[in-house]
Amino acid sequence: MNILLQEWEFPPFDRIRIEDYESAIRAAIEEAEHTIETIATSTEAPTFENTVEALECADRRLNRVSAIMMNLNECCTSDALQEVVMKLEPEMTRFSMKVMTDHRLYERVKTVSESSDYSEHTEKKTLLENTLKSFRRHGVALEGEARERYKRNEEELSELKLRFSQNALANMNDWTLHLTSEADLEGLPEPVRTAAREEAEAKGLEGWLFTLAYPSYGPFMTYSTRRDLREKMYRAYGSIGGRGNEHDNNEVIRRIVELRAEQARMLGYNTYCDYVLEDRMVQSLPNLRRFMQELKEAVLPAAKNELAEIQRISSFTPLMSWDFSHYAEKLKQQRYAFDSEQLRPYFPLDAVREGIFGLYGKLYGLHFDPAPEVPVYHEDVKVYRVLDGTREMGILYLDMHPRASKRSGAWMTEFRGQHGDVRPQIQVVCNFSKPTAETPSLLRFSEVETFMHEMGHAMHGMLSNVRYESLSGTNVKRDFVEMPSQVMENWCYEPEFLATFARHWQTGEPLPTEFIDKIRAAQNHLAGWLCLRQLNLGYTDIAFHTMLDGSTVGKAEEVEAGAMTNLLPRVPGCCTATNFSHIFGGDYASGYYGYKWAEVLDADIFSRFKQDGIFNRDTAARFRREILSRGGTEHPAVLFRNFMGREPDNKALLKRMNLL
Ligand SMILES: [Zn+2]
Repeated sequence: MNILLQEWEFPPFDRIRIEDYESAIRAAIEEAEHTIETIATSTEAPTFENTVEALECADRRLNRVSAIMMNLNECCTSDALQEVVMKLEPEMTRFSMKVMTDHRLYERVKTVSESSDYSEHTEKKTLLENTLKSFRRHGVALEGEARERYKRNEEELSELKLRFSQNALANMNDWTLHLTSEADLEGLPEPVRTAAREEAEAKGLEGWLFTLAYPSYGPFMTYSTRRDLREKMYRAYGSIGGRGNEHDNNEVIRRIVELRAEQARMLGYNTYCDYVLEDRMVQSLPNLRRFMQELKEAVLPAAKNELAEIQRISSFTPLMSWDFSHYAEKLKQQRYAFDSEQLRPYFPLDAVREGIFGLYGKLYGLHFDPAPEVPVYHEDVKVYRVLDGTREMGILYLDMHPRASKRSGAWMTEFRGQHGDVRPQIQVVCNFSKPTAETPSLLRFSEVETFMHEMGHAMHGMLSNVRYESLSGTNVKRDFVEMPSQVMENWCYEPEFLATFARHWQTGEPLPTEFIDKIRAAQNHLAGWLCLRQLNLGYTDIAFHTMLDGSTVGKAEEVEAGAMTNLLPRVPGCCTATNFSHIFGGDYASGYYGYKWAEVLDADIFSRFKQDGIFNRDTAARFRREILSRGGTEHPAVLFRNFMGREPDNKALLKRMNLL
């Protein structure tokens, strides 16, 4: 029998064959469909148990099997696996769409919600609300022609998003800067020149070739002393998606905005923004506007001062966008000349890991026991049982090193989420350099932060204590999910914590704390400016997604100019929107503010730890009880208030950025 369809305690990585996936996924879909059909056609009166709870559990096997397949496709893939995923992913999407648009199920859930009162059972109440909302947000309540139209619009939207990204990519690739004279390279460091020479060689060209891809564009704008060439590059980059050729995105944006506005209206919302925000911690457009306005007012004076300083060290008035990065870097070098590579010897991976485990010991009394008996999919993966006293909280897989079959970046995933007595199986994936025969794996400071961040997500899942899997751990509102991970990064700047593990791997010398002060100072370089930049992108996002129809879009460039607070002169023909893939090519529409929102929350929460002591067991216990253990069972605004005793406040973030 197919191993994936058998009962196992741990994912049976050592026994899965590639050909097992297809039949297992199809069998699991079939099983779920059968269960769902039984729920939909039941002659019993709908109850919470026979409908909402039954739906919650209907696709459990499918989730288990697909979690293995999808996770391995990210971190240990092969051509064969990719092919299988490509084939099966649409089938899984089709299945879940079929469920979410099933009228019979919706009617049953609606009956449950109308006939009973769950105000005494927070978790049941949330599950019921989420289920009902999920149906409605998929358009299930629409009838007849409206229903068809909604479906057609969704299909068109997914095509348009793809087209947007393809257009941007095409425009990015069809422009290059080909230089043949050494004099044109003035200011560029050797590695940047080498990369450009290789780029040229690959195209069979003499000299040096620069492109609009960030690894080429970014360093050029930062280091080139040739203002004329920086301007050329800037204009080319700024016109991506807006050059008026066959890859122009203006019409694509207009249509996306029009369709999103229509979809939202069909579901009963005023604007697309209202539709999105209803399902976020921030809750509403007025709340969001207030949040952004307050932060903007707080950082604007700093942003203006920073610009004035940069203006001062350049000789140009007015400073133009193509000058900014260049002189910002100069100022940074003058002030914070510091090579962060110096820190690496103090952060051997094994010591960092033990330091992080130790922190969870100090905060929550947890310990981590190696579990070599648990099967793994690659020899680099290490497994631990996470214990709270004698109680096993779950299994932690750490997959720390790059390999050809793994994508870049760092992330956390679950093979199984916590629910009831069932404990979670969670994985943290990173891409830290491998140890060699002579040297251990030495982390950059930013990688230590990354590790802490992902462990923050992992422990959100690990310490979960809820009844329903769809509400456990990191299954929270999207603008809340980064708080428990980001808050952990704060400990990386605390000498008291660093002293517990950061020692030179050869000499044993403890990490000099002035290094950390220097990193923090360098990080706060242009803090006001960068914050304003993020807010500007957030305002642009909102401007497009609060439009009532597409006719008001006009040129994307003009919408953007009106939405942003522009401290530098705008350059006609240049804008971000036509290349803003987060919101037009991806899933961040109306959500771009989320980056800053999560920062405000994490800084605020950490300020409480800072006040009580960064290892304070009582504060940690309260954080665990009020937030981490609760997952998505209650609105994050309530969880936050339960822990902090008040609403979020941006002062802690401003203090961290040294802007108070
Ligand atoms: Zn994260």
